[in-house]
Formats: sequence, C-alpha cells, structure tokens
Amino acid sequence: MGNSIDSSTDGSRQSSTQSTKQSTKKSSATGYSAGQNQPQYDALIIGAGVSGIYQLHKLLELGMSATVLEAGGGAGGTWYWNRYPGARFDSESYTYGYSFSKELLAEWDWSEHFAGQPETLRYLNHVVDRFDLRDHMQFDCRVKSSSFDDEKEFWTVCVDDGRTFTTRFLITAIGMLSAPTLPRYSGVDTFKGQSFHTCAWPHEPVDLKDKRVAVIGTGATGVQVISEIADKVGDLTVFQRRPNWCAPLHNSKIDAETQARIKASYDDIFERCRQTPGGFIHGPDRRRFEEVSEQDRLEFWEQLYRSPGFGVWFGNFRDVLVDENINAEYSRFIADKIRQRVNDPDLAEQLIPKDHGFGTRRVPLETRYFEAYNRDNVHLVDINKTPIESITETGIRTSDCDRGFDIIIYATGFDAVTGAFDRIEFTGSEGQKLSDKWLDGPITYLGLQTAGFPNLLTLAGPQAGSVTTNFPRGIEEAVDWATELMKYIQQHKYNRIETSAEAEAGWGVDVREAFNTSLLASTRSWFTGFNSNVAGHDKLRYLIYNGGALRYRERLTQVADHNYQGFHFK
Ligand code: NAP
Repeated sequence: MGNSIDSSTDGSRQSSTQSTKQSTKKSSATGYSAGQNQPQYDALIIGAGVSGIYQLHKLLELGMSATVLEAGGGAGGTWYWNRYPGARFDSESYTYGYSFSKELLAEWDWSEHFAGQPETLRYLNHVVDRFDLRDHMQFDCRVKSSSFDDEKEFWTVCVDDGRTFTTRFLITAIGMLSAPTLPRYSGVDTFKGQSFHTCAWPHEPVDLKDKRVAVIGTGATGVQVISEIADKVGDLTVFQRRPNWCAPLHNSKIDAETQARIKASYDDIFERCRQTPGGFIHGPDRRRFEEVSEQDRLEFWEQLYRSPGFGVWFGNFRDVLVDENINAEYSRFIADKIRQRVNDPDLAEQLIPKDHGFGTRRVPLETRYFEAYNRDNVHLVDINKTPIESITETGIRTSDCDRGFDIIIYATGFDAVTGAFDRIEFTGSEGQKLSDKWLDGPITYLGLQTAGFPNLLTLAGPQAGSVTTNFPRGIEEAVDWATELMKYIQQHKYNRIETSAEAEAGWGVDVREAFNTSLLASTRSWFTGFNSNVAGHDKLRYLIYNGGALRYRERLTQVADHNYQGFHFK
C-alpha cells in the first residue's frame, strides 16, 4: 500500500510553507512557556533521517514541544542525499523498517529483499506523514552553531538563514556518514564536465549514455555505482586505491506469498535481530573453527557465499574476525571466488585486497561487480602504481597519462562519525568547544553524552552501540532509551542533565577494550577514524563501540535501572 505513493514524493515540495508555519510554533506541554528565560522548545532535533524521524515521534507522544531542523529539502537523511545509481541498503528490507508500529508493518510492502534508495525514501516519507510529523519539521536549514547558556540552562541554535531557536534539550540525529569528503587533488574545481560526490547526486536524471565516466573510490558506494552503470555508460574507468573484499548481495523481488510470510513473522524477525550482535538476522556461528572439518567448513562457506545479505560477514565463525590465521584462510576462500569471476587473472589479482583480511573493513555487498570488469568498456587504474596527480579541465591526470572524461564520480566517502559534529560549532558550558574536546577523537559516555555539554544528547553519536549495528535496530533502541530518559527528566522537573569526565573515562575503557579484541582495530578504514582527505585523520580514533548490540543494551538498561548512573541532574 505504501509503495503506491507517487515516486516523486520526497517531501521536499511541502517543506518551505511548512517550515514557515512551524517556525512560529511555541511550547509547551511540559509547562515551559517561551520567553527570555525559557526556551521555545523542550527539545530540538537536528536531522530528519531515520533517527530524527523516530525521536520526534516519541517526543511528541510524550507531549513535549519539539522541532526538527534539517539541512536537506525533505526528510530521509542518508536516503534523501544518496541518490546515486545503484544505492540500496545491505540489510534485509524487513529488518530495516521501524518495528514500533504494528499498523505500519502491516501496511508497508517492501518490493525487494534489499530495497533501493527511492523505495526507502518513499518509506521514510510515508512514516513522516502517517504519524503527522511533517508539521514539526523544518527543511532547508542547516545548523551552523549551537551554544549552551549556563545561567538559563538552554541551547541557542543558529541556522544558515540567520534564524535562531532556543531549546532546553538539543538532540543530534545528524548521521555518521553525512559529511562527504572530496579528494585533495589540485584542480577538482576546474573540471569542465559534470562531477558529483555520490552523496550529492543530482535530483534530476544524469544522462550517462555514451559518456566517458570516471569513478574514484571502491568502497561500498563505489562498488554499487560501478556495478549499476557499467552497462549504461560509453566507457567507465575506475580509479582504485585499495580494493575491498566484496561479496554477492543476492537481491531478489519479494513475491506475494513471501510478503505474507514476512508480515506474519515480524515478531520473530525482530526478536532474531535483538539476539544478534549486529542487529541483523545474521548472527555468528557458535562453533569453534577447529571443531569443524575442512570439508564441512568449505561447504558452510559455500553456503554463506550463495546466501543473500551479510551472512557472508556476520554469519561466520566468530574466530574469523579475531584470529589472523583463520581470517587468512577465509580470505583465501573469498579470493578464489574473485578469481573465478574475473576473466583476466592479472585484473583479478588487482581486485583482491592484499593489505587487510576479509571483514576487517566494511564488506561491500554487490551485484555482478566483478563481472563488470569483464566488459570491454570498463577499465581499472591502480592509483598506487600510477597516482592521480591532478584533476584537469578535461579529465584526470595520472603519473603516466591524461584521460578525458565527461563525468567524474567521487565515491570517496565521508568524514565519518565525527565529521557532522565538526561541521557545527557546538559551544558547551563555560565556552568549551566540542571540536577542541574531540580534536584527537571523541570522548563520550555511552556515545550519548559528552561532559561539559549539558542537555546535549548525541543520538547514534560516536561510540554509541547503534553505529555498528543494522542502523534502524540500534536507533530504535537508542531513541526508546532517550525517550525514557526524557520522561524521567519530565517527572522530576529537571532542567539540566550532564555526564562527568569520570563516567566518560569508564566508557572509554569499554570502547577501547571491545575494539582492540577484533581485527578491525588494525585496519585503516572509516571504522578506525582514517580519512586521507581530512587533515589530521591519519591515526587511530575510537569512533565506534564494537561490543555488540547485546552488551550495549545490557549496559544501557543497567544505567537506567540505577537512576541513570553516570548522569547528573539539576
Ligand atoms: P568508503 O568506504 O570510505 O570508501 C571510499 C573509497 O574512496 C575508498 O575506496 C577509498 O580508498 C577511496 N578514496 C578516498 N579518498 C580517495 C582519494 N583521495 N583518492 C583515491 N581514492 C580515494 O566510503 P563509501 O564507499 O561511501 O562507504 C562509506 C560507508 O557508507 C560504508 O562503509 C557503509 O557503511 C555505508 N554505505 C552503505 C551502503 C549500503 O547499505 N548498502 C552503501 C554505500 C555505503 P581507500 O580504501 O584506499 O581509502
């Protein structure tokens, strides 16, 4: 039913009138009335993505006055911005939707096991409208700065059009992969053809037919774009710095019978997701690697490789991501798969990662990615051998030659997890800047607060459990927890909540311990805070909590059960 919504509905057209209407709204169901010493809103949420949408819904249910400020022209966050060809999620659709409303689950039909970006965007807009949230959202306004007033105990938030808002609680729902980064090659601005970062893909169709197209970057995004456009462009040249371990997605349509079965089993599906460390339906195989004979192991791995989704990464023996030798064995198995799929043996070797083991960086799931390189119109440039020297007016110059292009696609990733925070000037208690505090990496308590920044809740922020899970699963739990916290604050009529350096220190130890036990810690990727396009991001930063959803949930429950241990209220 939801899928019958006009495919052009991305929410953007309704935004401007509604934002005008909303900006005059005043509070408050909790007893505050706006004035010099009282804020306009009980809560202000930055970001109308998966987190912001659900958090808004929950706060309105509590009777709080709340608004969402969103930089984009409509709701959807990641799914609003990332419109590049081939964009889709790698979570099973029916594990990606919200679980909080039985009616919503019953009425929404996912068309594919792994839905594409347009469908996900329609879904999120459907949720916004179904729960009457749009009136509480303001679009096309990018938050520039926020500062906390120690005396009045509220935040003042400034947006790029000059307006300011005041709010008791400030909740960031700004995404972990929402600050795109371009390479620092000279000449990026001089190219005369079309060029886009994948996250800023135009809303209008881009004509690729017969075009000479360059893609820089082979992460999860680049892999999706390359696979999708290889047979639609004239000529495609991929500039690869490091290959990734990619594995087949095995997407397919959902037929009516399967649809009915999915709808009848939502309780089981979500319970299954609750029981796995990643919040996916795929959980680790509990057998120890040595217990399984070589033949059984190979059969098991074949089965993983043939199955849809992240089983190939998360459904494996746990040892694969912990023990280097075992990881090397699995990596050899996957490398052979790549060799079988790429006709030219030299090219196959170039596409096989040599500097890290399988699963120690984010595994891109793909549809005929390796087969794309068997096409005559697809070329791979290894920029370790022939580095890019500059972008020219007509194309890309490497150390060995100039190549001409009509379109350059930058699939060069994001200033992950902390980047969106760095793009807003947060000034906390006593004038402290968040960018100063987090210069060498984030410091948080539970990934939800940082000391010196009272009344700021960083939903799905750095070091939160949700960052490493099937995102909506982690998000729903984080939002539910934050909502209970807000309820507690309402009941006690508190004006201020903040955490302490002591609580942060304890959480920092947990974050580091959970991270360092895994092979992920020794690989350069956005998980470990590396980004060659951002000055200073050339060393390990602990951006994510890698202890798994179960441990994180346990910890959050324990904290709440002890009157929000680690937080101080006033
Ligand atoms: P990414 O994983 O960080 O990959 C960026 C790519 O660009 C890498 O291949 C990187 O090479 C290359 N690169 C960066 N700067 C470069 C430069 N200056 N010159 C040449 N190459 C450069 O970014 P992403 O692919 O956008 O993916 C980010 C995350 O978004 C994913 O890990 C995933 O969590 C999420 N995502 C999810 C989906 C999905 O659900 N299906 C789809 C897409 C993305 P190096 O490897 O050498 O650094």
